[in-house]
Amino acid sequence: MEILKGAGTSARLKEDVRKMLDTLGGRIPKLAIIRVGVRPDDVSYERSAVKKLESFGLQAETFSYDQDISDQDFKREFKRINEDKDIDGILLLRPLPKQICEKDLEAMIDPEKDLDGISPVNVAKVFAGDDSGFAPCTTEAVVEVLKQNQISITGKRVVIVGRSMVVGKPLSMLLLKENATVTICHTRTKDLKGICREAEILVAAAGKARMLDEEYVAQDAVVVDVGINVDENGNLCGDVDFDSIREKASIATPVPGGVGAVTTAVLAKHLVQSCVKKFGACTE
Ligand code: NAP
Repeated sequence: MEILKGAGTSARLKEDVRKMLDTLGGRIPKLAIIRVGVRPDDVSYERSAVKKLESFGLQAETFSYDQDISDQDFKREFKRINEDKDIDGILLLRPLPKQICEKDLEAMIDPEKDLDGISPVNVAKVFAGDDSGFAPCTTEAVVEVLKQNQISITGKRVVIVGRSMVVGKPLSMLLLKENATVTICHTRTKDLKGICREAEILVAAAGKARMLDEEYVAQDAVVVDVGINVDENGNLCGDVDFDSIREKASIATPVPGGVGAVTTAVLAKHLVQSCVKKFGACTE
């Protein structure tokens, strides 16, 4: 089995970002990362995103708020950031505390700054196959990993385990646009093993540590693991039991170091694209 790390795809995206930056006449795109509370996952993601964006020649500013901030106060802050002309993109770390209405924020966010595809405008574009908006970064990372590694998608039987609005559903649309034949599975799916074993490309996005072992994988399948979980020993792992599929899969992405590594690179690409849309034409 070939282990497909995300670093190569990330490096190629960095090159794309560099070329787009050259068209901006010295303007450095800026991302606002908005965090409420101090969940360790959010803090560590925020730290690594800032580092990665800086390594891509971009800027990131973090805005952090108290876990108990009221809905009204948070929306006032969010509106200020949303309207700030110096900010080209927004990443809202979720889930938010329950007193804050996420649906309202999805409707408020400027679609041009919504780099992770949460606004109804961007969701609709993904479902309409219109690539002028932003898809969720992780879903685009999956497609980038496949395409950049010359794994053909057209006509392939793809099975996605997971139907969330963050990964499963939008990813199914992106892969459909690439002419795959897509099946989406979830907790009520009957014969999950049998369906997964039909997949030429199997995408795991269930959020269940190592739930998919070799019994779910067809001989020579390509396996893309989107899951990020912490196992019983406190180690990071995916949804796929990586060791057990070694003799079955032809190619598989590891966790960590697979899709996750590409997700932030896609975020960087979206940030510079957002800026190019606004200012690129001025320098042409
Ligand atoms: P989620 O909202 O919890 O959705 C999980 C989906 O998987 C649901 O549709 C659920 O089905 C399905 N599922 C769960 N257990 C299952 C089982 N035993 N059999 C079949 N289907 C099952 O999670 P998410 O936000 O989509 O994230 C999924 C995973 O991706 C998580 O591990 C998350 O940490 C990771 N993630 C990674 C990145 C990245 O950058 N790599 C980004 C985002 C998320 P039901 O709908 O029936 O409940």
